[in-house]
Amino acid sequence: MKRNMRRALKSLVVVAGIAASFWLGAAMIGCGRSSTDTAPSAREEKAPQVYTCAMHPQIRQAKPGKCPICGMDLVPATQKAETNRTER
Ligand SMILES: [Zn+2]
Repeated sequence: MKRNMRRALKSLVVVAGIAASFWLGAAMIGCGRSSTDTAPSAREEKAPQVYTCAMHPQIRQAKPGKCPICGMDLVPATQKAETNRTER
């Protein structure tokens, strides 16, 4: 009887250890994913706003104003929006 109990306890400890290692690994992976997910959005928020002309993407200014080429109002541009505009 006692031997059986010890065996059961040992197997329980082993299973618990494996489960704990799996849980730790999952937690580590989850943390890595969440940090990488939040990094790009934080970058976009912190990135300095660039204003560009809808007609002339090469125009880039740190402040809103008017395009020196066509005189249109400069629009705030992110890298993603810029690629969309050039495609259209
Ligand atoms: Zn322009």
